Amino acid sequence: MVIVMKCIICGKNEAYKSGLCRSCLADKIHLKTENMELTVCPKCGAVRLGKSWHYDNADSFIVRGAESHIIMDKNDRISRVKSYTIGENQVSLDLIIDDKNLGEVEKEVSIPLKIGKESCPVCNKVTGSYYESVIQLRTYTTEYGKILEEARDSIVKFMKGLNKNDPNSFISRIDTLKEGLDIYLGKKEDAVKIDKLMELDYFCNIKITKSLAGRKDSKDLFRYTHLIRILDLVPGSIIYGGAYLMVKSIRSNTIEAINTANGNIVTISSKEFFRGSYRVILKEPDRETFIVLSSHDGESQLMDSRTFQIITFKKEFTEKEIDLYRYGDKFYPL
Ligand SMILES: [Zn+2]
Ligand SMILES: [Zn+2]
Repeated sequence: MVIVMKCIICGKNEAYKSGLCRSCLADKIHLKTENMELTVCPKCGAVRLGKSWHYDNADSFIVRGAESHIIMDKNDRISRVKSYTIGENQVSLDLIIDDKNLGEVEKEVSIPLKIGKESCPVCNKVTGSYYESVIQLRTYTTEYGKILEEARDSIVKFMKGLNKNDPNSFISRIDTLKEGLDIYLGKKEDAVKIDKLMELDYFCNIKITKSLAGRKDSKDLFRYTHLIRILDLVPGSIIYGGAYLMVKSIRSNTIEAINTANGNIVTISSKEFFRGSYRVILKEPDRETFIVLSSHDGESQLMDSRTFQIITFKKEFTEKEIDLYRYGDKFYPL
């Protein structure tokens, strides 16, 4: 036989603890609530409680804020929040209260809520075209090129990643000019990160300048311009630096080139290149496709697929067709 103990107060429900049912037990906990106010940014959903804006985990800040709007007896404290609902005009909490005499007691409470709407500082910056730094993407030859658009795309992708962790990391605008692209950034530190990204991916040179943008709180405000010049040459391009050199390959920090005077391979670091006085002689390579007619004993008979002219080349090829790059009257395989 199972004896069901009834609650000693209401006499209806099953007793749960100290002879009381859950409902009568909860009634033993006395608490009051204060009205709570919070502000939501209609543009991004960020939440302001008191003075600070919260861009992530707004729910947990609201719940914590709601807890601080509960006034309890000195014998009670909130042990944990079992569940919560954030409504339009109240926050409902299902709490576990730790009471000195009764132990853990479950208690539901609703905190009256008033939600105000206000654009957050980050959204104000974005809509106000705020910026701290400008990335000026340019080519080495000063001609607008596709390489700039590739670089822009990787910067945009990179900034989207940063923005997930910091709403102040944003691109406020991108201007397309005839000489290149200007990318305006909300946060100056991001420009330094972009410099590193570009140095990893491109053979480029970076120059940073700062200019006074105004004063705020008796401090000078500076804006930073990062001029990034990307080498826009390709294999087969010709540069001059003491000798005529044909570019063989370009990596992020070195150019490998053939000295057209003696066929030697030279390596130029980006520091050397941008410090030195190299001139671009030919940007678009002069490339011809040849059909390999025969190839043995260290030489090949090649036929120009366009002019059908046959030449002898001092090298063996295993391919049926080969691209050669011309400089002057000489051809080079790369
Ligand atoms: Zn009861
Ligand atoms: Zn916002």
